[in-house]
Amino acid sequence: MAIARGDGDPPTLILDAGTGLRRVTGLLGGPPFAGTILLTHLHWDHVHGLPFFSAGDRADARATLLLPEQDGGAQAEELLARGMSPPHFPIGPSGLRGQWSFGTIAPGTFKAEGFTVEAREVPHKGGRTFGYRVSDGHSVIAYIPDHCPTELGPGPEGWGEYHPAVLGLADGADLLIHDAFWLPEEVAAQAVLAPPPRSAPTPALLGHATACYAVGLGRRAHARRVLLAHHKPDRTDEALDRLAARFRADPSIAVAAEGQVIDC
Ligand SMILES: [Zn+2]
Ligand SMILES: [Zn+2]
Repeated sequence: MAIARGDGDPPTLILDAGTGLRRVTGLLGGPPFAGTILLTHLHWDHVHGLPFFSAGDRADARATLLLPEQDGGAQAEELLARGMSPPHFPIGPSGLRGQWSFGTIAPGTFKAEGFTVEAREVPHKGGRTFGYRVSDGHSVIAYIPDHCPTELGPGPEGWGEYHPAVLGLADGADLLIHDAFWLPEEVAAQAVLAPPPRSAPTPALLGHATACYAVGLGRRAHARRVLLAHHKPDRTDEALDRLAARFRADPSIAVAAEGQVIDC
């Protein structure tokens, strides 16, 4: 997801670096990228766009890439290189052209490209994961694309706990972008096929949330709009249309589509 300060401004803050990162080169319209990339975590679907980001991989580019510090205290570039280096890929992070710098961040508040960013740890699966709250002083975006709230318990409706970290990130946000990987009926079917042990009242859901949880969080946190994102990979356009139809009565809820532009 690429954030620009205003209409016509180039995007300077990018949240995660999946394959959609390639599209940012087109948004820039020719000039190199100059800005910051914040990763929520290091899973493939959040980093695989990096070596294909041509506006960032050129001699006149400038990029600061920040990611959550992981257990063991490894450096950011080393962590990235575990998935991006020979023999898995022809180059490592240091092979990207331009001025690239890599760093780890801890939960807390910091400034990036003129935006105020708050990072909080959220339960996911396999590696430390952050959600972000980004403000330009006028509007606020909460970005929580990978989140497994059932890790903390079933919560009031069985979709997971509405815990302080995400309630804080989403509090009064103009736009909440949240994990909507599962449909409620898929979770129910999963629970029947593989009943969880008594100590775990809800299935782990592969580290993800249901669309119902995303909507519930938006309501509890008084977010102005909710964008359902990070859909299960086999969702077709028709399936996403059906998902959108479920929430048609509530205009504050939308389903993320590729290439979508949102004004806040
Ligand atoms: Zn993930
Ligand atoms: Zn993901």
